[in-house]
Amino acid sequence: MAPATSSRRKTTRRNDMSDIEDDSTTVHATRDDVEESDEEPTTRRVKKEKGKRRAQQEPAAVDNDPDSDSDEAIDVENFPDQPLKRDQMSKLLGMADDWEKLASVIKRPFDSFATSAGALADLDDEDAKEKVEEIDKYMRESLDLIGVMKAHAGALTSVRQKGLQGEEIANAGDCYTTAVQVNLASYKNKTTRQKYAKQEAYVAFRSRIWESQHPGTPMPPITEQIPREQGDNSDEDDDLEIGGVTQNYLCPITLTLLDDPYTSTVCGHSFSGAAIRATFRTPSALNKCPAAGCAKSFRLADCKSDKGLAKRVKAHKRRMEREQEDSDAEEVID
Ligand SMILES: [Zn+2]
Repeated sequence: MAPATSSRRKTTRRNDMSDIEDDSTTVHATRDDVEESDEEPTTRRVKKEKGKRRAQQEPAAVDNDPDSDSDEAIDVENFPDQPLKRDQMSKLLGMADDWEKLASVIKRPFDSFATSAGALADLDDEDAKEKVEEIDKYMRESLDLIGVMKAHAGALTSVRQKGLQGEEIANAGDCYTTAVQVNLASYKNKTTRQKYAKQEAYVAFRSRIWESQHPGTPMPPITEQIPREQGDNSDEDDDLEIGGVTQNYLCPITLTLLDDPYTSTVCGHSFSGAAIRATFRTPSALNKCPAAGCAKSFRLADCKSDKGLAKRVKAHKRRMEREQEDSDAEEVID
């Protein structure tokens, strides 16, 4: 019985983490919740583990209020680690989730990065070019930071996995540290292409720059913008790469430039507002996506007004008009 008691007391050493979990209420995290949860990094439901533990173990001989600080009497330095118990495994999941939530906070300015870089790339002067490179650097640094957070989240998940498979986690701290180091090393060993070329956010970011510099031309695979490094395999590795998306900003229904665009939260396809309303007449009915090749179905209510896209369509229109003027001017000269 003694180790059980010690183990419980030991958890108070991690009070900071426990507090985060204990304070939180049940939240069914919708997309919006995740986006707006900056003040409350952790909103997770933790089962009544503490209550259970109390019931299973001997009556309260010590102060086992998890929120109180009862560390004074414990010789933390010489306190032996206790094996993780099964009911502590869900805590690991909660902690991994905390890292994921932090990563989602880092992602938040990505769209602004893309918008700014796209606008700067439109300017076509040296100063602006430098700024675009600077934002590119921020973007990559942020993705690296997310890589670090994922290393932590992944380590917690793998410790939990081992525990759930019945392995005794005798020293959770060391186990975790080792797993983090392994994950970090594997991230560090990745080439530039491997780190960024398959990241959706980075591809979206580069597309916006490409759009400004090459209006109306589809972007080639992103790897063409990142030089091959040692460790990059030849092309067989690149078959899944993203790129070559034509940004023509046409509504799949009207086949003309998007007007007052609405984007489906289900599949990400966008439509002119009037066109999608006319097509999906019954707001509550589930309809097949009108975009060619899309197998998803959604309701009118799943389509949200997309102001960011509206701005990009406007910029695209401006660019195409400018191109047209330029080529008209050339023809006159010829
Ligand atoms: Zn679709």
